[in-house]
Amino acid sequence: MKVNDLIATLTFKLGVIGKNINSFLTNDEVELIGLEVNRNIKIVERQEAEAELLSDLQAAHADVDTEPRAPVVTFMGHVDHGKTSLLDALRKSDVAEGEAGGITQHIGAYKVTWHDGSEFVVLDTPGHEAFTSMRARGAKLTDIVVLVVAADDGVMPQTEEAIAHATDAGTKIVVAINKCDKPEARPMQVKQQLAVKGLQPEEWGGEVAMVEVSATTRLGLDALVERIMLEAEIMQLSAKSDAPGEAVVVESRQSPEQGVVVNVLVTNGTLRVKDTVLCGGSLARVRGLVDDHGRQIKDAGPSTPIALMGLDALPMPGDRLYVITDVKKAKEVAEDRQRTARTLSLAERSKMTAETLRAQLEQRTVEEIKIILKADVMGSLEPIRQSLAKLNTEEVKVNVIHSALGGITETDVSLAQASGAMVIGFNSVADQSARQAAERAGVTIRFYDVIYNLIDDAKLAMEGKLKPEEVEEVLGHAEIRAIFRSSKFGNIAGCFVVDGLVRRAASVRLSRDGRVVYTGALASLRREKDDVREVKGGFECGMVLKDFNDIKEGDQLEFFTVKLVKRTLD
Ligand code: GDP
Repeated sequence: MKVNDLIATLTFKLGVIGKNINSFLTNDEVELIGLEVNRNIKIVERQEAEAELLSDLQAAHADVDTEPRAPVVTFMGHVDHGKTSLLDALRKSDVAEGEAGGITQHIGAYKVTWHDGSEFVVLDTPGHEAFTSMRARGAKLTDIVVLVVAADDGVMPQTEEAIAHATDAGTKIVVAINKCDKPEARPMQVKQQLAVKGLQPEEWGGEVAMVEVSATTRLGLDALVERIMLEAEIMQLSAKSDAPGEAVVVESRQSPEQGVVVNVLVTNGTLRVKDTVLCGGSLARVRGLVDDHGRQIKDAGPSTPIALMGLDALPMPGDRLYVITDVKKAKEVAEDRQRTARTLSLAERSKMTAETLRAQLEQRTVEEIKIILKADVMGSLEPIRQSLAKLNTEEVKVNVIHSALGGITETDVSLAQASGAMVIGFNSVADQSARQAAERAGVTIRFYDVIYNLIDDAKLAMEGKLKPEEVEEVLGHAEIRAIFRSSKFGNIAGCFVVDGLVRRAASVRLSRDGRVVYTGALASLRREKDDVREVKGGFECGMVLKDFNDIKEGDQLEFFTVKLVKRTLD
């Protein structure tokens, strides 16, 4: 069928509007068209080649023995509760760390070898959103969430957020009650708070281990590691090292020297240099592997975090990576994926323009803050964009006009200047020429290393765009009891202040028989012969209304002021 006929059938016969040549059709829509034009339609799943590839891989794994593997742990908690300090304390005790001379690589994950020989992998992704966005892509890397709660501060908003994320993902939680060295530490209270939030401490018959620790004095670190390993044992985490490698992308970046560098965590099998791998839309040969201590390695088994070089396109966090044996089939999958990615972005683009246009027509008054976002790794960029998008309301929107990996450059600044945007760097710095350009152009650059703070500030900026709310405050009431005619002033109202007070500078509403007849201001307010600013309840006074002479005895006057109150987003 010609595309035009297809769109006509959809629009006029089936009443499905808004489709164009780049639109995707749902299976239902396709079947409806089939019925309408009397054709038999068989819907073939697009991922067939990929599914075949996966089952090949599984077949290759089938008769290989499984072995226990190291657990993958993510630390979560409220800001300043000591997540970083705890991770540092654990890393300092890493036996392998000493050997490598303490050179640590930021590869989003690293393995810690404890002095008793236990091994666990720490997945160090920025913020809770990263955990969730990775999960949204179908990758469940984390076996255990260590929830860090400060004993002197207790359960805070991000603690609850972390509980929600971990519970929703069905991930085992171990609680580390940190800062127990502090005299004001109240671990008991923390346990009670956690119990209220649904985490029942083991010692009270519940299921959640809660270990009292201190990152500062290293108290309880052994117990914490012991608990993590115990949970891992109960979960019977296992993998096959003698099989083709499979991994999940933790982060990816473009390096000027090394090209695409992908940080992955091997989930099963063994990944080797020179392996052919499929990852996202990229089918490539592994050029090099680097471990979490910056050492070149030849192969990596299950639960090993590594940086991998050789891909020709940037994958997304959460993407899977497989070692390929059937290159022909893998090519099919890679091409298929690239095609989908292209069509998707085309479809998204045309949808965007239609939507923006409609938005522009319908709501000319929508305020927005514009942001240019630069981040160090893909793993931060997407979650930040998503969190920002969540702030959007009917009245005010965040518009990320540009986002990319890398440092803040002069180009970013000039774009910001041109569009009235602010530049935000997440774990990303501005070079000197960018800083100078920003100063000259009056462009704001802000730096963050905590997503929560970034979002909070964006929220503040958005709130600044909201029109303030006008709140009326009633000051008092007066009643007109007599009217004096003056050739100079017009009608003067002789009033009695019934309650509150009346103020010369306030607004006034005059009502008669329950109906408001006039709203305005005073031209003068007098007590006896003097001009005054205020008259209190229980006193008499004379007043003249501005531009209103038609006053009567018995009229009621209400005095009020209008305050502008700053509005907030929630
Ligand atoms: P994060 O925001 O959760 O990563 O928290 P940090 O690790 O940056 O810690 C926040 C503050 O708490 C820092 O000033 C740390 O020195 C302090 N801190 C962290 N752990 C402890 C601890 O166990 N005891 C005490 N007394 N202070 C701690």
